[in-house]
Amino acid sequence: MSQTPISQGEPERIEILGMPVHRVTMDQTVTLLGRFLDGDQTHLVLTADSNAVICGSTDDGYRRMFEGASLITPDSAGVVWALGRYGASVPSRVSGVDVLEKICEISAERGAKIAFVGAAPGVAQSAADQLMARFPGCEIVYVRDGYFEPHDDESVAFDIAASGAEILCVAMGMPRQELFILDTAAITKVKIGIGVGGSFDVHSGQVKRAPGIIQKLRLEWLWRTLLNPKKLAKVKNLPLFYWRVRKAT
Ligand code: UDP
Repeated sequence: MSQTPISQGEPERIEILGMPVHRVTMDQTVTLLGRFLDGDQTHLVLTADSNAVICGSTDDGYRRMFEGASLITPDSAGVVWALGRYGASVPSRVSGVDVLEKICEISAERGAKIAFVGAAPGVAQSAADQLMARFPGCEIVYVRDGYFEPHDDESVAFDIAASGAEILCVAMGMPRQELFILDTAAITKVKIGIGVGGSFDVHSGQVKRAPGIIQKLRLEWLWRTLLNPKKLAKVKNLPLFYWRVRKAT
């Protein structure tokens, strides 16, 4: 399909199999994050992969997450490919792991405080330590693991509010992490909430990114699946995603 030029103003919202995804680059994402910080509402940033798009058509939690998001970035190679099929190509993925680094840069530049919630005990703190060392001036003021029950959401939210964090990064898997952000927004009053999935594991050094050549071949998902069979359930939705998008475009 012929590609229209990428908009430099408000990002286009493209429906992929009925789920919205913004046609954004990383640079535009950074500009939007700055704008969210200037405002006074909570903005959910969703980094969408093919599995999320597929689950959005059947699962209420996933659907609510798409509906509640202000910005939805193309997180995976599959979503980047799908945008191209809809005539709305983007130069590359805008993944949670990479957006998290940009958030740390923004924190260092603007003095915006960050809260990290999620992953196994110790992992978020280790990711926070490594990121604060890499981005001097970045302030991660609240850290806790992601193993708590929904009935504790409110008390965690009050702790986040007390920390003065303006940016909340939650790594508890989809859609739990995004729904936590939406459902506690009235308490946390953060300006940006983003679900970052396995990013704390990556930034703490627990999970290595695939080697560059594997990333170039767009086979990072296969690499990660082989290292973590729990991801198999998600990967099995990939053929369905490709088949449905091909049929629709
Ligand atoms: N996790 C958590 N609490 C839970 C379940 C999962 O904190 O109740 C963490 C888990 O330790 C991992 C992250 O959530 O760090 C989920 O990563 P995954 O790669 O599954 O996320 P994805 O980006 O694929 O949704």
